Amino acid sequence: PETKLPKVGTTIFSVMSQLAAEHGAVNLGQGFPDFDAPARLVDALARAMREGHNQYSPAHGVAPLREAIAAKTERCYGYRPDVDAEITVASGASEAIFDAVHAVVRPGDEVIVLDPCYDCYEPAIELAGGIAVHVPLDPRTFAVDWELVRKAITPKTRLLMTNTPHNPSGAMFGAEDIAALTALLRDTDILLLSDEVYEHIVFDGARHESALRYPELRERAFVISSFGKTYHCTGWKVGYCIAPPALSAEFRKVHQYNTFCTFTPAQFAFAEMIEAEPEHYEQLGAFYQDKRDRFREQLLSTRLKPLPVPGGYFQLVDYSEVSDLDDAAFCRWLTTEHGVVAIPLSPFYGRPPEGQRLARLCFAKNETTLDKAIGRLQKL
Ligand code: PMP
Ligand code: GLN
Repeated sequence: PETKLPKVGTTIFSVMSQLAAEHGAVNLGQGFPDFDAPARLVDALARAMREGHNQYSPAHGVAPLREAIAAKTERCYGYRPDVDAEITVASGASEAIFDAVHAVVRPGDEVIVLDPCYDCYEPAIELAGGIAVHVPLDPRTFAVDWELVRKAITPKTRLLMTNTPHNPSGAMFGAEDIAALTALLRDTDILLLSDEVYEHIVFDGARHESALRYPELRERAFVISSFGKTYHCTGWKVGYCIAPPALSAEFRKVHQYNTFCTFTPAQFAFAEMIEAEPEHYEQLGAFYQDKRDRFREQLLSTRLKPLPVPGGYFQLVDYSEVSDLDDAAFCRWLTTEHGVVAIPLSPFYGRPPEGQRLARLCFAKNETTLDKAIGRLQKL
């Protein structure tokens, strides 16, 4: 029978992590920290389970967590979302993205995505019967050409999906992007899905331009984040969506029949952690900036050329001095022959640019892991 997602195979992250395991390679591919979640958070999770928080939570999330998210959002972005009507906890940003897309995209609707983009966007759009319209970012700086976005808009455009800080490049929106985005959406019915999972991993004093800071944007936006990135626990799969009441109501229709609710004990643990240790997310940028700077310095001793990293925990490298293989073949070769896993960029594109020679390395790793990888990369 004809499959629903003919273009989709196994995700590049699963493929490369499997290859890493088979070859005993240093895994700088799939984005996850190889260090522990904060002790307080782990203790709070164990305690929540011991205290009996082991049954379904309210579908929107437990009240203490929604309160904590509201307070944190106000502190960070000057806007306090309504605890009851505007915040929904979901099982990771992935679920929240799926729910938001399914809540608003009808068959035949167009959804603009900016390539390269995170690999779960297009399948969600297609399963909803929508059409992903791919607009390329600048192939070197990964900046948005807002004129190209404007040209991609048609009467069928229902949703625009953005991501800052950006996976895979680390590029971040500046004030000028927000101005252009606001002007573009003004007087249209186009909704915004703003994927902000790396919101606290920002460097060099830059400010994360959350859509929540801007009334004109947030009144039409699903703003999505994930505790996996902020609290070094990607396997716990807890995220959330902030959207105005009418959009949240639609979002919740999908969420309640998708997962109904998210792992209850972790919700209590995050509620405690957010309130008790705001330093954790406040200092996350500095924590990762040290890793970024050290890793980039080390890369100078290899023939890989690091691109700038304004935010996030990925380092793009230009490998054209080392190899003329396409990126998928290069990453496979790097894993099997040199024992370091990287992620090719082509799976993040509708149509990958010809001749791009870039690979993504994750630096959310202990120094020993990064040192070992660098030792191997120096032999290229
Ligand atoms: N969006 C982006 C840009 C991501 O990088 C990720 C995780 N890699 C997600 C969404 C999904 O987050 P989660 O693991 O919380 O589902
Ligand atoms: N978001 C992670 C990354 O970009 C991968 C998550 C996953 O494996 N689906 O590496």
